[in-house]
Amino acid sequence: MSDTKYVMAIDQGTTSTRAIIFDHKANIIATGQKEHEQIFPRAGWVEHDATEIWVNTREVVGQALGRASLQNSDIEAVGITNQRETAVVWDKRTGEPVYNAIVWQDTRTQKICDELGALGGGAERYKDRVGLPLATYFSGPKIRWILDNVEGAREKAEAGHLAFGNTDSWVLWNMTGGPDGGVHVTDVTNASRTMLMNLDTLSWNEEIAGEMGIPVSMLPEIRSSSEVYGEGRAKGLLAGVPIAGILGDQQAATFGQACFEVGHAKNTYGTGNFMLINTGTEIVPSKNGLLTTVCYKIGDADAVYALEGSIAVTGSLVQWLRDNLGIISSAPEIEQLAASVEDNGGAYFVPAFSGLFAPYWRSDARGALVGLTRFVNKGHIARAALEATAFQTREVLDAMNADSGVDLTELKVDGGMIANEALMQFQADILGVDVVRPKIAETTALGAAYAAGIAVGFWSGEQDVIDNWAEDKRWTPQMDTDERDRQYRLWKKAVTRTFDWVDDDVR
Ligand code: ADP
Repeated sequence: MSDTKYVMAIDQGTTSTRAIIFDHKANIIATGQKEHEQIFPRAGWVEHDATEIWVNTREVVGQALGRASLQNSDIEAVGITNQRETAVVWDKRTGEPVYNAIVWQDTRTQKICDELGALGGGAERYKDRVGLPLATYFSGPKIRWILDNVEGAREKAEAGHLAFGNTDSWVLWNMTGGPDGGVHVTDVTNASRTMLMNLDTLSWNEEIAGEMGIPVSMLPEIRSSSEVYGEGRAKGLLAGVPIAGILGDQQAATFGQACFEVGHAKNTYGTGNFMLINTGTEIVPSKNGLLTTVCYKIGDADAVYALEGSIAVTGSLVQWLRDNLGIISSAPEIEQLAASVEDNGGAYFVPAFSGLFAPYWRSDARGALVGLTRFVNKGHIARAALEATAFQTREVLDAMNADSGVDLTELKVDGGMIANEALMQFQADILGVDVVRPKIAETTALGAAYAAGIAVGFWSGEQDVIDNWAEDKRWTPQMDTDERDRQYRLWKKAVTRTFDWVDDDVR
């Protein structure tokens, strides 16, 4: 394949939308990026304006092409990766969203989840079919909330006028024509986060959709992660270019990190943390608080599955120190503040801001900073905030080892927080295994680019991904076992202090 052609990834993330152009060797040629507004209407609610996201998508694609001085015809294929679970419901006749997108971190659907669980089975009600516990995190209950609370929405949905999608479907539908023939599909990885898809048949479960009051007609068609879904039709925006890959962001990173064999795992450190371990074509139910999810499906090949440990708050705790406490003025500044002290001074910070996800799934938890004395200063708090990421990751790794029956020997990492070298060393210390950073850290966008490039023959397959992957840096554990165990024990004690906080009348 000629080196003069490129693949573009559109990464529709939680805080921003990016377009990245890669060459055949997976080098980044150009990037466009734009943040969108985080809307917090009340405690626990998190929304995005889906129209703003679409406008930003157009803009960042133009930025990337412009910076690389490329035209549509230079782009062989486009792959989409996206924040998962975030729910958009729009009117197919007008292209207007009926409500803001309800974001994955949003906890407003607690009551809906409780009511569904009360039908029998509690939080495990759908787990054997969809691999997920009933939790506010997933899309299904968010769709239900919109249909219940937006005037006229349910009637329109029943009349077949509304469409649901995660932001992959929303962007794809708009790119392929919107109200004028837009393609309404999603891929198996995104569908596996809705609570509505059977993991074994990879099709919508009509019984669950019925219980949630969601007309199946509004759901996108489920396709593989790597095939041509349609081509760009929006005026001037990648017209004629095939859109040929979709992977949810964490699955895309797993693909970009070349985790193709059973037992290969990666951990992404972004707004939250997400560790995925490849379990091959086997659907492995978790006994230790992990999710069973689809990892990827390349064209007609069998689907590959994964176990996932999702942590809601890691990098966003650093943002919180910056935006809500003001003790740092930028995220990287936390490194200096944390280095101003020798250790955490006895302080442990459990950021259960959206309850606790893996491995606890405790929606009744709320954040706590414990172990405080007059000695503790803001340096210790910064340190405790960073350490929280490493301790939460250890809990997920323990769950993975227990579920898979084999101990992971090293962990591939990516995401914004891995720029923090002291944190990566502490992570290796607390895990007791090597932590490995790849040369190309943009693994999420890269994974989506690979899925698209493989579909059109730009890359021949997984071997190209493996060949392009290279190690950049490795951190090896240095802490002695007694100290590791002591700190981890205190962390676990701190976690128990966050439980049972939310009472029925808590606002
Ligand atoms: P996402 O894709 O989820 O939006 P990124 O992978 O871009 O996130 O990572 C950004 C996160 O990393 C932010 O939450 C930010 O607070 C955190 N971050 C960035 N630099 C540092 C640093 N030097 N130390 C700790 N955290 C950092």
